Amino acid sequence: MRDPLTGLYNRRFMEEFAEKEISRIKRYHTQLSLIMLDVDHFKKFNDTYGHDAGDLVLKEIADFLRKHCRESDVACRYGGEEFVTLLPNCSLDDAIIMAQGLCKKVREQVRVPYRNEILSVTISMGVASCPTHGSSIGEVLKAADNALYEAKSEGRDRVTAAKG
Ligand code: GH3
Ligand code: MG
Ligand code: MG
Repeated sequence: MRDPLTGLYNRRFMEEFAEKEISRIKRYHTQLSLIMLDVDHFKKFNDTYGHDAGDLVLKEIADFLRKHCRESDVACRYGGEEFVTLLPNCSLDDAIIMAQGLCKKVREQVRVPYRNEILSVTISMGVASCPTHGSSIGEVLKAADNALYEAKSEGRDRVTAAKG
């Protein structure tokens, strides 16, 4: 259920939670939004300082997400240096505002002490919602992933919403 490095939920738990949440959406006509986050140029931390510096960055991002998510939100390590936060009962517009806040706070506040260095981090994010961008968690994740890809290609350290 948990990722051992970060202590966040794992991908499988998040997907099962999302499926239950989506069936609730269909009954009660609410929304589920999600933010897919990816650390920018993460490979650079591993290559410059070593794998344990990279691991430390991942733990800091996980702590940051825990601290800034609501109790009802589900933050998970999706894989590698990618994270997904599920926001039940949250509109796309509110999720975008939330993601923009996270983006700014990571840029301005996250500092990771490693040996004699202080590492700064930025993240890129894609935001999508159910039912607007799909009726299954797979479809909504795909939409968020496409938006994330766009955020990366537009220069990173930014939030992009899925189209539609
Ligand atoms: P981009 O800005 O485009 O996202 O570039 P990036 O360097 O972040 O992305 P890329 O996909 O090239 O590299 C991700 C790296 O993350 C490659 C992989 O070795 C590393 N990685 C994956 N899981 C872990 C982990 O648990 N610990 C550490 N230290 N590194 C990991
Ligand atoms: Mg990645
Ligand atoms: Mg990355």
